[in-house]
Amino acid sequence: MEILGLTIDGARTAIAAGEATATALAESHYARIESHDTQINSFLTISRERAMAQAAKIDGMAAKAEALPVLAGIPVGIKDVLLMRGASATAGSLILRGYHPPYDATAVSRLEAAGAVLLGKLNCDEFAMGSSNENSAYRPVLNPRALDRVPGGSSGGSAAAVAANFAVATLGTDTGGSIRQPAAFCGVVGVLPTYGRVSRYGLIAFASSLDRVGPLTKSVKDAATVLQVIAGKDVMDATSSGRPVEDYVSGLAKPVEGLRIGIPEEYFGEGLDPEIRGAIDGVIAGLKMVGCVVKPVNLPHTKYAIPTYYVIATAEASSNLSRFDGVRFGFRAEAKTLSEMYRKTRDEGFGAEVKRRILLGTYALSAGYYDAYYRKAQQVRTLLTRDFLAAFAEVDVLIAPVTPTPAFKLGEKTDDPVQMYLEDIYSVAASLAGICGASVPCGTTKDGLPIGVQVLGKHFDEGTMLRVAQAVEKGQNT
Ligand code: GLN
Repeated sequence: MEILGLTIDGARTAIAAGEATATALAESHYARIESHDTQINSFLTISRERAMAQAAKIDGMAAKAEALPVLAGIPVGIKDVLLMRGASATAGSLILRGYHPPYDATAVSRLEAAGAVLLGKLNCDEFAMGSSNENSAYRPVLNPRALDRVPGGSSGGSAAAVAANFAVATLGTDTGGSIRQPAAFCGVVGVLPTYGRVSRYGLIAFASSLDRVGPLTKSVKDAATVLQVIAGKDVMDATSSGRPVEDYVSGLAKPVEGLRIGIPEEYFGEGLDPEIRGAIDGVIAGLKMVGCVVKPVNLPHTKYAIPTYYVIATAEASSNLSRFDGVRFGFRAEAKTLSEMYRKTRDEGFGAEVKRRILLGTYALSAGYYDAYYRKAQQVRTLLTRDFLAAFAEVDVLIAPVTPTPAFKLGEKTDDPVQMYLEDIYSVAASLAGICGASVPCGTTKDGLPIGVQVLGKHFDEGTMLRVAQAVEKGQNT
């Protein structure tokens, strides 16, 4: 049988029925990576030994007709900001060259405990800073749906690997849009869990109050399956929530009829590509047809989201990245004195965008500017959160664009950081507010570029959010 392109459900059923083995599944994905990823650049490291050992273990269980765990034999890829014991972890940066962590991130170990086969580590923007993957210090990732286009960022490798059938599912991270935007650009599903829903233990931090780990998959059901595995309290991350994890997968069977869908006016103004607007209008019409109640809502502080995000994210990054000094992790530059070693390591190890953000963040936190920038940004963050809470008093989920444009060309925005930051216009407010969301494919442009739609849900209401996401997905297939 054709085993490339299967969903989690499809692959698991095939393994359980003896039509495929986990070993064959892993081998065929590796073969495809070898033959096609030279063009796409989605993988930075392959972890063949670990993957094949796990596949053999799953096949052994299947041979003995033992009950298979939920991700048994599913080939997955991991964004290179998440740690895998013994495997190179670069975060897309030269400064971490040679760093091999001694432990697994919690999300990674939970995947493996559920039977997943870890294929390797995926390319990303350096320290997850970017919207195009062009900030990777290694090589840019290309969009498998259009090779002259970016796959989005920072989880571009994670989105491209799913779109190109190099993996059945991947993990990405989203600080200001980095799961949702590349999912939209590559035509796959990406889920942003509520802040605290998934442990950040073993995630190389960019902005700790915003960073989230989540799945990229071929279907909403697959995303629900992966999320259910990785979600939940972790004693190693004090910010992980102890709230019980819902059964997201069986929740998908509940009807969406009667759910209230909010359309935030501020997300449909000037600058939104008309083809994206048209596709989302189609989504809204489809949701009405299945009995959802659609009403306009307002999120009045939306215009402050980008500047607020870029103050808070850079401030936190400047602090988090101070640990990379040539002493503890990875690369160390040759130098005569300690301070020269620090300076040279950071100068040679960090790329231009990372340096820009360290400078911006250090400035925003410095005495004299702290109140004007950082404190003010935190106050506005509260206003942005209140906007969502007020909207969610009226509606169950929100529908919005993910990005103002479809995937842009490589090199198109690299000279203008502000243009690049504006890519995040529809994604960063949800990041600042901590709510959950997803990007779901909802058509293509006349040039064949994927379009995604964003479904945003209340804090810890992934269940309802995923249900609506699945209704959107079904609408595409009818
Ligand atoms: N594009 C945004 C940034 O550059 C978001 C990145 C992310 O979510 N990791 O900060």
